Amino acid sequence: MNHRPAAVAVACLILFVAGCGSSESSSPTTTTAAETSQHTFEVDHFAEGAIVGDVATAECTLSGETITTCSTVTISGAPATYSPGPFCPDTITTTADDAGIWFDGNGTYDLTGEFIKNLATFYNDDQWHMYDDLGKVKVTDSQAAFLGAARPDVDPQYQNQCVEGRVEWLTNGESITKSVVIPTTPVMAAGSSSAQSSDWGITLDGIVIAKSAPVSAILGAHTIAAFDDCGGHFNNVEGYHLHGATGCGTLDDDHLAGETAMFGYAMDGFPIHLPLSGADLEAANLDDCGGHSVAGIGYHYHANDPSKNSVLTCLKGEFVATDAAQGGPPQGPPPGGAPGPAR
Ligand SMILES: [Zn+2]
Ligand SMILES: [Zn+2]
Repeated sequence: MNHRPAAVAVACLILFVAGCGSSESSSPTTTTAAETSQHTFEVDHFAEGAIVGDVATAECTLSGETITTCSTVTISGAPATYSPGPFCPDTITTTADDAGIWFDGNGTYDLTGEFIKNLATFYNDDQWHMYDDLGKVKVTDSQAAFLGAARPDVDPQYQNQCVEGRVEWLTNGESITKSVVIPTTPVMAAGSSSAQSSDWGITLDGIVIAKSAPVSAILGAHTIAAFDDCGGHFNNVEGYHLHGATGCGTLDDDHLAGETAMFGYAMDGFPIHLPLSGADLEAANLDDCGGHSVAGIGYHYHANDPSKNSVLTCLKGEFVATDAAQGGPPQGPPPGGAPGPAR
């Protein structure tokens, strides 16, 4: 079958809420992540092409009032080492090799033709019917369809469509770069937070690790916002972005027993490693944010299993909470769309 360049989706709207400035920081009650060998933010770990332009380093004030040094990086928005897709199956007989995946918080599923054919049964709702009389799956096949469907308030005419997008359908016809400000050396916060900033972090391949896809809105419109096998898809707000960590892209592996490779940095500057499973997961004794400290790495997160539809659960470190510094495209409603959370 044809390889569709790309995408689907909906995005994750980003409202940065917290202000970042406090005038004078009184003595911070937080401590720097103390592992002697705490892994810090290092540009060298990123794939070539993942970062656009120069990385600026400047003083910054973090969410817990700590004044420290932050790096401002602009990520390319296009995975540096792989091409997005495929996403939706072409027909109700398409196999897993020629389609992406779907995860809804309860499980991860190969997005086969059979899965599409079985949606009404799977979700126990007879309004699902995403294929025609010839067995062809209804897929968003134009920019208009993508823009109308890859958002939480799906245009009714695109209900019962498998949603995917591609770079050329984005408003500017190109990948969406994004500037993020990340503490160069992570600082533990007084408590866990969900990070008011938009996203969980960025990958070493130069894409955004978004928060959860709005599954209830997606399924409520009888759509499937297909992910590729790498756990990413397109929307018009963030371009290609990640909702699940499946091991694609650039990895940094120290090959430590019981550990997995790092694939990105969280907004608080702590590394994010691939999910743990089985005995390694049990032995890791992860905290409520999925993190732990290990000699040689320091504190780091392990991504949740993709089925959770959330790469991280919370952040342990202080992060930069500011709208202006995070840059990115205007966060208004997508063309023809109403404001609201993106998917
Ligand atoms: Zn999304
Ligand atoms: Zn670990």
